[in-house]
Formats: sequence, structure tokens, C-alpha cells
Amino acid sequence: MEVYEGKAKRVIPLDDGKVILEFKDDATAFDGKKKARFKGKGWLNAQISAVLFKVLEENGIKTHFIGIAGDNRLIVERLKMYPLEVVVRNVVAGSLKKRLPLEEGTELPEPIVELYYKDDGLGDPMINHYHAKVLGVSEEEVREMERIALKVNEVLRKYFTERGIILVDFKLEFGKNERGEIVLGDEISPDTCRFWDAETKESLDKDVFRFDKGDLISAYEKLYERLTGESPTHR
Ligand code: ADP
Ligand code: UDP
Repeated sequence: MEVYEGKAKRVIPLDDGKVILEFKDDATAFDGKKKARFKGKGWLNAQISAVLFKVLEENGIKTHFIGIAGDNRLIVERLKMYPLEVVVRNVVAGSLKKRLPLEEGTELPEPIVELYYKDDGLGDPMINHYHAKVLGVSEEEVREMERIALKVNEVLRKYFTERGIILVDFKLEFGKNERGEIVLGDEISPDTCRFWDAETKESLDKDVFRFDKGDLISAYEKLYERLTGESPTHR
């Protein structure tokens, strides 16, 4: 199998059912229209993802995470990925403002789960169970992903609240392993989640880059320190 070069990661297949995910320093936003490089972002996202996958595993959620394999690399179980993005939201932000008449920052009465079809050409459109079925993903599989996504939300929300951070929303990707199980894959990082400081409401995520809110690396480092209690050791 060939190395896959994505926008944020490189996927390097190994010959034993595992792959290396190499996190790049590249950042993209708005369907790839905005681009930049931030030295150290790959390291921070790999390490933060590793921390969060471990938290999920400790709470009984099956993930692809096996271990850290060098500075900006994770070793993970190879999955056959579903072409879907599963988004969970606790607080109104981002594209939800275009869907509901609610102000940014409004806490939702209960979490919202959304499905998107992962397709750059179509601009990752939002879809429902019926569309997913046409794409070859059964209702049962969608329901299982939604169930796991809500469990991930429960676990991570508690984890972040304890660290003075609001988990606003996040995106997950799932795949099937060799045993036919649906497993959480990809990354969980400030590139794929919105994190707000509970006190100041400051963004500790990719919105810093999307909306030029300041220095991306400082924001990601702050998040890393809050999670690990340690100063980052990249560069
Ligand atoms: P994109 O493909 O959107 O540019 P990335 O740069 O993040 O995104 O590329 C990472 C790719 O790796 C994605 O296509 C993702 O679905 C895929 N992937 C994530 N986890 C696994 C895994 N465990 N096995 C195989 N592929 C994976
Ligand atoms: N997200 C992501 N990849 C995408 C689209 C969204 O990781 O291709 C994440 C995003 O970082 C946010 C959540 O999913 O945490 C919800 O994103 P939203 O629909 O608000 O879109 P955005 O405003 O980020 O374009």
C-alpha cells in the first residue's frame, strides 16, 4: 500500500495491519482556501491526540490508538475509513450559526450530532441517514457511530471541564477494523475540536488560525499544558 498524503497528516502503511499517522505542521481552513505552516503544530496535535485517545480507552471506548512512534507520529490500527465526519456540539459556534437562530456561545439543551460526507469536491456537505445509506453506510452503522460519538462527548466533556476548558464541538472519524468492529480513528486535536477557556472564553484551537485571533502555537501549547501539566518539548 502507498503512503497517503492528506492535508494535515501523512498515512504510512506498515505490513502488520498497523499504520503510522504523521502529523504535519501544515494548516488549512475554509475548504483549503486558507493555508499556512506552524512549526511545532504536528508535534502538539500528535501528543494531544495521544493523551485524548488514552483517556477514551481508559473509559472503555475502542480507538485505533496503539502508541506514540516518534515526535509527530502515532502508530494506530489500520482501519477501512467511512467517508463520514461525525460532529458533536455542546455550544453554538461555527456553521451551526447558519442553521439555528442562536447566538454564538449559547449552551445547547442537549448535544447535537451531525453527519457530513467527507468530500473536498463537494465541500463536505451535511447529510442524513438516508444519504449515508446511498454511500454504502447502513442505518445500523450510523447509529453505532452516533452512539460512540455521544459517549466520547460525555467522557471528554467531563475531562475538559475538570481542566477549566469548555468542549464546544468536535469532529470524529470512524473506520472498520479487520474483525469488522467500528473503531474511532483519525485525530482528536485542536485542529478538529473547539476548546474555549472557561474563564476568558479564549479559543485554544484552530479558530485562532481561521479568524486570525492570535498565535496558533501559543494557543495549542496552552492547551497541552492544561492537559498534561507539563511544558511542551517540541522544536
Ligand atoms: P484529509 O484526508 O482530509 O486531507 P488528513 O490529512 O488528516 O485528512 O489525512 C488523514 C487520513 O487518514 C484521512 O483520510 C483519515 O480518514 C485517514 N485515517 C485516519 N485514521 C486512520 C486509520 N486508523 N487507518 C487508515 N486511515 C486512517
Ligand atoms: N471540523 C473538522 N473538520 C472539518 C469540519 C469541521 O475537524 O472538515 C470540526 C471543527 O474544527 C469544529 C467542528 O468540527 O470543531 C464543527 O465544525 P463546523 O461545522 O462549525 O465548521 P467550521 O466552522 O469549522 O467550518
